[in-house]
Amino acid sequence: MNTFTFYFYELNNFINVILPIPLQKQFTYKITEAEAAFLKSGMRVAVEFGKSKIYTALVYTIHNEPPVGYEAKEIFQILDETPIVNEIQLAHWEWISNYYMCSLGEVFRAALPSAFLLESETVIQQNIGFTTEELLNDDEFLIYEALQHQTQLTINQIVEILGKKAVFPVIKDLIEKNVINVKEQIYEQYKPKLIKYVRLNAVWNEKEKLSELLETLSRAQKQRDVILTYFQLQTTKKPIKVVDLQEKANSSAAVIKSLVDKDILEYYFIQTDRINFDGNSKEIKILTSHQEEAFLAIKKCFETKQVTLLKGITSSGKTEIYAKLIKQQLEQGKQVLYLLPEIALTTQLIERLQIYFGEYLSIFHSKYSMNERVEVWNNVLENNQKAQLILGARSSLFLPFSDLGLIIVDEEHEPSFKQYDPSPRYHARDAAIVLANQHNTKVLLGSATPSIETFYNAQQGKYGFVELNRRFGNVLLPEIELVDVKEKHRKKRMKGHFSDRLLEMISDALKEKEQVILFQNRRGFAPVVECETCGVSPQCPQCDVSLTFHSYRKELRCHYCGYRQAMLHNCGACGSEKLNTKGFGTEQIELELQELFPNVNIGRMDLDTTRGKYGYQKILGQFQAQEIDILVGTQMLSKGLDFANVSLVGIMNADNMLNFPDFRAHERSYQLMVQVSGRAGRDQKRGKVAIQTFNPYHQILQQVSTNSYDEMFKEQLQERWQYHYPPFYRIIKITLRHKNFNSVEDGANWLGKSLTANVKEQILGPTTPAISKIRNYYIRQIIIKIPPKQSIAASKNKIIRVVNAFQAIKEFRSIKLTIDVDNY
Ligand code: ADP
Ligand code: ZN
Ligand code: ZN
Repeated sequence: MNTFTFYFYELNNFINVILPIPLQKQFTYKITEAEAAFLKSGMRVAVEFGKSKIYTALVYTIHNEPPVGYEAKEIFQILDETPIVNEIQLAHWEWISNYYMCSLGEVFRAALPSAFLLESETVIQQNIGFTTEELLNDDEFLIYEALQHQTQLTINQIVEILGKKAVFPVIKDLIEKNVINVKEQIYEQYKPKLIKYVRLNAVWNEKEKLSELLETLSRAQKQRDVILTYFQLQTTKKPIKVVDLQEKANSSAAVIKSLVDKDILEYYFIQTDRINFDGNSKEIKILTSHQEEAFLAIKKCFETKQVTLLKGITSSGKTEIYAKLIKQQLEQGKQVLYLLPEIALTTQLIERLQIYFGEYLSIFHSKYSMNERVEVWNNVLENNQKAQLILGARSSLFLPFSDLGLIIVDEEHEPSFKQYDPSPRYHARDAAIVLANQHNTKVLLGSATPSIETFYNAQQGKYGFVELNRRFGNVLLPEIELVDVKEKHRKKRMKGHFSDRLLEMISDALKEKEQVILFQNRRGFAPVVECETCGVSPQCPQCDVSLTFHSYRKELRCHYCGYRQAMLHNCGACGSEKLNTKGFGTEQIELELQELFPNVNIGRMDLDTTRGKYGYQKILGQFQAQEIDILVGTQMLSKGLDFANVSLVGIMNADNMLNFPDFRAHERSYQLMVQVSGRAGRDQKRGKVAIQTFNPYHQILQQVSTNSYDEMFKEQLQERWQYHYPPFYRIIKITLRHKNFNSVEDGANWLGKSLTANVKEQILGPTTPAISKIRNYYIRQIIIKIPPKQSIAASKNKIIRVVNAFQAIKEFRSIKLTIDVDNY
């Protein structure tokens, strides 16, 4: 019998997309049948949203439910042939959005390199150096040509130039061909490290010229030796570094320079940060028996625990253990993510890992150029060998990993793993643990001074725990001496901000031709200028803070908004000419040192000196080359630096760290001081540390000087319990900002009352923070403390309901409101 079967196709003619905007919901667009057959979740589409604005949106789901309440628009065009975001990423974004109380769109915007997020307001500009116009098709050429007449174009202008709306694919091609890039706000352009190489001037490059050349140098024996060595080195067919030539020829920089002056050799530079791997990897180091033991213990923990903490003192060789773990993963073809705080992304660590894993290693952080970030994204997406190991700052969490075998979070205690602004305000360590879970893989947290939270989790048995208490080579931890400056002042044994004891230690180190690091966690000359007559300090006109005096430019600056003005001659309040400075910063230390040690080279490393061209690399390079004897700096000094010749670390003033009004101030001070101390005596000799303080009996200073992490932990944990802080209570901070004092006051009061009435947790505030105004915005805060064993998700839902009600009130709409979960 013949039967007819009727197929009722359920046509999937709608998609839900994520738009890169702070609105919570998803938006539905209409698609054709052909588009439905082609589209997949994780592909980008260009859509219109709002008043004729074009955005890049991400396909989330494909379905057949028309939206309620509005007519779905059609999409503009499809931008990808295959998904550029995978299912695990979407699940991870979902978690971040829920946990950190932000929209999926905000996560989407943070996750993708901006080149992937073209929208009508995007501004593009030409890449310098592109000249091969013949590679361009007609549309591309039109844009290229327009950019010869004006330096930048908006997407809307391109729409006009091309006479069509479908311009994103053209722009995408131009980016891929390296013709253009997307202009973005980068706070600080990444400064590449340049290495000086040397080569033979082209006129001498033929074989038969060699004897002629040596002939001309017959009476310059030293130069002749250099040239002979050069030819030896040249046989390896690798670029020749000036320093290598100098060393191998047993010669000097001056001799090489005289050959350059004669036009026989010439210098050139290669940028070393864009991994120019020369194909020469070295074997990883053989672990010492203690390291091997730790390595095996970690592997053992991996069998039962998802997260393991490696607590290893500074210089114990944690990096070498990571290297062995990484190697095993790479051999199995797995991807590895190595997260570290931005500030620690120094060339030192990059170089170390590059030597082991060059052909597998890619680096990813916000200071890299857009094209480089796109390149890394695509390499990870295609699971290319070149990006099998990612070394990166917190945003590298968002790369499209598909086969992660291990995540390492180095220096896990570092506060810079938490993003403050903009949303998503995520903690990269915690988000990494969730990501690893979604990949069904392991996380190793490493630190010499673990955060209270992490160590607590390890103690509770939630995390595996491995300890390494021996420095490589059995070098002893530095000897730490507390110097009582109150006593020194009384006995008149201070010169400026230096005690006689610290000066003596500095002189000793210099005598031994060793180097010194001096740490002061404030930049500028003096944090406060005060009138001796009336006691008033000049304030920032836009913020509620005193201005900092910078003596080099005779300026007063605000460290919160960047405001600056010339130093005053008279007090603005009473007219008195007696203006004093109080407190001290790195600049003042540097000036005092120059007077105390006139023949010593002094360098300074802080935000002010590292802004300039190659500033950071240059100072570290000089220090490494021992052109600087004493380096003065802020906490930039505490991370990832390994200088063999540093025998003394001085902490100028421990008290201002300890007195900082924050529940983590003691923990932070401990970590910072131990990490900075760890820079001393990394080689053979035992290093020394001097800590100047008004209060040598402070328990944290005692714990630092006796290396008593456990004691510090116990005491801090007790306080956290007593005063209701993490790891016991969860903290959510709501901040309100408005230019009008009364508006923010009213809004904060309403929100405070409403939260108290609707949410059962402890509500503190609204309060006025210590700095109550920044950039002309008045600030109020409300803290919510969620007790242990209470559902965080339920609490958050209640909070969101109150916040939504708040935002629906007309008078409050102009108030800027941010929510920060697990505030650091
Ligand atoms: P950490 O990361 O714990 O501070 P590092 O990994 O930086 O310590 O090690 C400190 C120094 O000791 C580095 O210069 C490192 O190369 C060296 N080192 C550590 N372990 C070994 C080893 N097994 N063999 C050779 N050198 C090692
Ligand atoms: Zn200001
Ligand atoms: Zn005055």
